[in-house]
Amino acid sequence: MGVVGAGQLARMMGDAAHGAGVILTVLASSPEDSAVETADVTMLGSPDDAQSLDELASRVDVVTFDHELVNLDQIAALETRGVVVRPGARALRFAVDKGHQRRIFDAAGIPLPRFIVVTSSSDPMLKGFLDSVGPPVLKASRGGYDGRGVLFPQSRVEVIAMIDELSTTTSVVVEERLNLRGELALVVVRGVHGEYASYPLVSTVQSKGMCVEVRFPAGVDESTALEANRLGRKIATLVGAVGVLAIEFFVSDRGLVVNEIALRPHNTGHWTIEGARTSQFTNHLLAVSGRALESTETIVASAVMVNVVGADEPGSIEGARQIAGAHVHDYGKLWRPGRKLGHVTVVGDDARSTHVTAWESARAYGTGTRET
Ligand code: ADP
Repeated sequence: MGVVGAGQLARMMGDAAHGAGVILTVLASSPEDSAVETADVTMLGSPDDAQSLDELASRVDVVTFDHELVNLDQIAALETRGVVVRPGARALRFAVDKGHQRRIFDAAGIPLPRFIVVTSSSDPMLKGFLDSVGPPVLKASRGGYDGRGVLFPQSRVEVIAMIDELSTTTSVVVEERLNLRGELALVVVRGVHGEYASYPLVSTVQSKGMCVEVRFPAGVDESTALEANRLGRKIATLVGAVGVLAIEFFVSDRGLVVNEIALRPHNTGHWTIEGARTSQFTNHLLAVSGRALESTETIVASAVMVNVVGADEPGSIEGARQIAGAHVHDYGKLWRPGRKLGHVTVVGDDARSTHVTAWESARAYGTGTRET
């Protein structure tokens, strides 16, 4: 299998590869990339360079992805030539282009924040939309991740200035700013013949647009979990996903609303390495290589995952590992303030103590984020 990109997701695919009977080749931008340590083979090149993609495709049976910062035309061209790409360009477009995702989901009746997509601040729809929703959230249709490309303007003047700035490179999703009661995520897996499996719903804690903590169980009622799964199935089929698909939800005053989706293993599924019979990484590899999915059943009563995001000063990975019960995952990246460097998962019987232990370990590691 070939992976476009060699970040931490590809690194964890590498950890799972041999157990899933897969030999992994990663397309890395640099020999320092996170996945180089765990991959069987590393190819150096750019994820949006047609020649690099051709070479990767010529060496493997199937191509998959570590991130969605890819050129869809190039991916579609590979498919036209008969290269097996999973997920394919049609499905990937939902993750690459938030405007496309919003439009198609809206047409399919999936609950969303109210939105419009504009290419400039002089769009004739803009004024009326802002008058009806109040202060909006602005999102770059393409190129954003981990809160980059998501803006919260304070005034109408700022809305215009920010749209002008974003629209030099991409169209802009302008959407209503919801009063969030919480955020949830559902990680599902879809096989090549449409087989579907889902991990349990989790709740997520965000700070400055970045996910800092993931909690299983999500602590929501049965009807919310059922509704999330109904939407999960609908979205997986609509998108034509193969492999892992993650759906992020807002819990708003009007119930569950879809925020966005990703077509790859996802941060909100890292806890499945310790907490489920089969991790999201193994299931992604199985699905993408056309084999049967394995059990997504959980093997623990509770799990907490805390992201380690570099603080101003590095901490101690050894110190983090000394905390009893902490499963410390280091991504092998150079320390940089604000950079996602690893994560810690703690599983156990008691939700409160797994939370406390996970944060204790993440703090020792040197996370710059704070417990909420
Ligand atoms: P990214 O694609 O960079 O992860 P998201 O679209 O998930 O960005 O937005 C990042 C965070 O910003 C969300 O997790 C949420 O906390 C906040 N946010 C995004 N959209 C809205 C909205 N419409 N209303 C309120 N908060 C929002």
